Amino acid sequence: MLVPPTSADAPTTVSEPIAQPIAQFREEFESLRKRERLLALAIAGSGTGIWDRHVATGEIHYSSGWKSMLGYADSEVSSRIEDSYLRLHPDDLEYVKATMQAHFDGRSDSYEVEHRIRCRDGSYKWVCSRGKVVDRDSTGRALRMVGTTTDITSLRTMSEGLREAVNLITNLTNEVPGLVFQYRTLPGGRSFFSYASAGIRDIYELTPAQVAADASCIDALIHPADLAAYRASFGASAAQLSPWHLEYRVQLPMQGLRWRQGDARPQRLPDGSVLWHGFITDVTERKRIEAELQELATIDSLTGLPNRRHFMTQIEARLASLQGGRGTGLALMMCDLDHFKSINDRWGHGVGDRALRHFGSILRAQLRPGDMAGRLGGEEFGILLDSADLRAAIGVAGRIQQRTAEYPLIEHEQRIDLTVSIGVTLMTAADTNAEAPLSRSDLALYRAKKGGRNRIES
Ligand code: GH3
Ligand code: MG
Ligand code: MG
Repeated sequence: MLVPPTSADAPTTVSEPIAQPIAQFREEFESLRKRERLLALAIAGSGTGIWDRHVATGEIHYSSGWKSMLGYADSEVSSRIEDSYLRLHPDDLEYVKATMQAHFDGRSDSYEVEHRIRCRDGSYKWVCSRGKVVDRDSTGRALRMVGTTTDITSLRTMSEGLREAVNLITNLTNEVPGLVFQYRTLPGGRSFFSYASAGIRDIYELTPAQVAADASCIDALIHPADLAAYRASFGASAAQLSPWHLEYRVQLPMQGLRWRQGDARPQRLPDGSVLWHGFITDVTERKRIEAELQELATIDSLTGLPNRRHFMTQIEARLASLQGGRGTGLALMMCDLDHFKSINDRWGHGVGDRALRHFGSILRAQLRPGDMAGRLGGEEFGILLDSADLRAAIGVAGRIQQRTAEYPLIEHEQRIDLTVSIGVTLMTAADTNAEAPLSRSDLALYRAKKGGRNRIES
């Protein structure tokens, strides 16, 4: 505590030459006291106590603020260092002592340690202790050390809460199957993942660190056929700030070709960059099932040819092109195996099935690119010929008839001869739907049957 010079300290009569310095000294003294009071208030207000340790005698003195911080009255705290150790949390004692010793030994510039300390009511507070040796003997042994103790309980609680929240988010995102991410593109064009969950190992076979500064390495993993769509989708999402959604293929070193689905929402930041929050999942299995379902929906399982529905859709599409003036001549043929019922009756249904497959492959062999054959049902097949007039179509029908006769089905070394009746028609722009040319070819087929079978009619 600073003691002000009293009038008793000064001569009653002050000669002129020293009156000026004394007044100046008083002024400086007052300002010092003011600063001391301010400092004391600041220390008290910051939840900080002060201690003063005499190493040789084992005494330690605490400020009133230090004691009240822990709930003690002035007279309730002993000044023995051994007692101070009793207040430390047992788990922190060794660490605190070691840190203190390091400073005594001159291995650190100052002493600073966070630890728990017991209050008067038995509860523990987290504090930060800082100090410095201010006096050493001629051999360098510490004689006196002063320091502060600051209550950091609320800070610790807050930072622990924060750490728990971060852990929770990290654990959650790491457990989600797939990649949870925060992705950013800067105005200059550089892009990077400011957050990537552990799932990036599965999704791209990369680590979060590999994409933290630059995400361009991902481009090399996107299937070349999907790379343009991948870039364009992010470009459009950034330009319109619309959700990003894309299904795309990746070609990975270990997993090979896989399907990925990405979804994210963009937001524009003040610096002009765009930030997406989203996730990417593995949809390979779903894509495989979709493709299978698609095939199931369009392919006849017995012959592998397009089924009736798909064949009709194709006729509608070609008809639309024809009407739009884009298509060339189109011919439609309807084939029906003759007396097929008797094949079933004689050889059994299984052989009947193999006969249908056999005929399907004869048809397929006659198709050129742009042509299409389908199974319309039972032992009825349709053929759509691209760029064909009636003559050409009848020529193809003749070849089918010939091949069917030349290549019988062989079952247990037995010949099973097949014949086919075929009705041919040309599709025209006047056909309003697929049914119209189909019923014309059906009529022609009927005539072929009526005319004795194994015939072609148009
Ligand atoms: P037609 O010369 O007049 O065409 O005589 P057909 O016996 O071929 O004609 P019909 O319509 O009387 O009989 C068709 C037969 O085809 C009857 C049916 O059992 C058989 N069939 C239809 N679908 C299948 C199939 O998927 N597998 C087998 N094995 N037979 C089938
Ligand atoms: Mg039939
Ligand atoms: Mg038949």
